[in-house]
Amino acid sequence: MKIEELIKDLDPVTIIEFKNYVIENLGELCKIKNSNSKIISNHRCDEVICKHCKVKMNKNGKTKNEVQKYICKHCGYTCSETTDTIVAHSHLSFDVWSNVIDNLLDGFSIRRIAEENNISICTSFRLRHKILLALKKYVQSIKLQGNTQSDEKYFSINLKGTKPNNMPRFSKKRKSTSSPYRGISHHKVCTVSSIDENDNLVLKIVGLGRCTTEMLENALSDKVTNVNNFNTDSASAYRKFCKNHSIKLNAIPSGKHSNGEINISKINGIHSQLETWLSRFRGVSIRHLQEYLDWFVFIFTMKRKFSLTRVKTESYNTVIVDNNYIKSKDIFKIPLPIDLKVAYSEYSRQS
Ligand SMILES: [Zn+2]
Repeated sequence: MKIEELIKDLDPVTIIEFKNYVIENLGELCKIKNSNSKIISNHRCDEVICKHCKVKMNKNGKTKNEVQKYICKHCGYTCSETTDTIVAHSHLSFDVWSNVIDNLLDGFSIRRIAEENNISICTSFRLRHKILLALKKYVQSIKLQGNTQSDEKYFSINLKGTKPNNMPRFSKKRKSTSSPYRGISHHKVCTVSSIDENDNLVLKIVGLGRCTTEMLENALSDKVTNVNNFNTDSASAYRKFCKNHSIKLNAIPSGKHSNGEINISKINGIHSQLETWLSRFRGVSIRHLQEYLDWFVFIFTMKRKFSLTRVKTESYNTVIVDNNYIKSKDIFKIPLPIDLKVAYSEYSRQS
């Protein structure tokens, strides 16, 4: 329900009373036990469908926390309003969730989020990853249109947080684990980055080493249906990609920053913003790099689309209503986006 509709018949004095009441009691109102499920039921556009029989489920009472339950008359499957959402099995109220989302929009570290919300580092870590995964679907739905700039960004492999047993075996003779290669090699993680004339942004990890047409297909093929022009550097991978998708390619000759009107300054600007933003995290594990890229894209998109006050409320809705539930223990099983055997092939041969 729209706020305007909700208050349209109230008289001005009541509206002022209403405003004062909300301001005085905001904390308590956001702490009530079914606060999260209220958001979900408010945004549920269709009926609740049984995931086994694909038929409409019936209402089936409420839990002790006043969360609506559902039952399938066919197979007896039951679920609740919060099943498969980020707040499933969560004892935290909206008050805490919304605060953590605010903190994430502000780019706080796990430690700082723990301190701000009086939760453990471990809970802070879990909440952050759950929320970042909930942004994934939103970010994945972003498509490119019209004139688009595209480039690649390369990252060094960072295995922060990986258990020693699971680390690649380095040669005992080598003191340093840094890459012996300069420039782009299979020791660098390639990400494709594209931005269109309306600031729709795509940042995606595609693999190891120099960008290939196959990598571009993997990152962009479902996003470029409405792209007319692609401005890129001289990377040859784009030639075939653009041909495959009937996109006009404007390649800037190597060594140049622009070719007349044609340039990639916007995407280069994004790269430097991204670098500054990532630097505060003091090294991001490659296992979680895509989550951080999604996080960056989400903030970038929200700030572009909404006024400052609505960035927060839109973000709460996106995150709480998302149905990309992940169990806490599965956060540690998120697969690496690259093949370490390929990255460290020469070391495994030596050892
Ligand atoms: Zn059923």
